[in-house]
Amino acid sequence: MSLTGSYDDANIFAKIVRGEIPSVKIFEDDAVLAFMDAFPQSRGHALVISKTSKARNILEVEPQVLAELAAATQKLARAVTAALKPDGVVVTQFNGAPAGQTVFHLHFHVIPRYEGEALGRHGGGMADIDDLKALAAKISAAL
Ligand code: 5GP
Repeated sequence: MSLTGSYDDANIFAKIVRGEIPSVKIFEDDAVLAFMDAFPQSRGHALVISKTSKARNILEVEPQVLAELAAATQKLARAVTAALKPDGVVVTQFNGAPAGQTVFHLHFHVIPRYEGEALGRHGGGMADIDDLKALAAKISAAL
């Protein structure tokens, strides 16, 4: 799927928003949801999505929703940093398959980086659910 096309209500993040598939949540309100990436590229890799918008990417998103997402991404990055004490943190998002996007519901990645630790592969192995729950609890406690 490229930059053109329509929103697919059956995408995995839409299912997470609707509660049809489980996720390890960090925080949410009526507008946004932050949760652990199930295939993390580093310890504490988390995602932020809108719960209301059907934007597939940053080009389509309503400015108000983008503002909500930006604020939530900062909140998440601060909590991840406070909780896990990484040496750096990557905030990123991809638009279109050639850019690396695999889930076509706009999302921001918060990826903590640790000195001397290589970044895991994008779309690598699935994390242990109990590890994700422990990390989410730690990050939530730092909100
Ligand atoms: P993208 O490649 O579209 O920028 O990022 C999609 C992200 O969603 C990837 O980092 C991938 O690991 C993550 N992901 C894919 N499927 C699931 C899932 O079912 N649950 C969770 N929590 N994350 C997922």
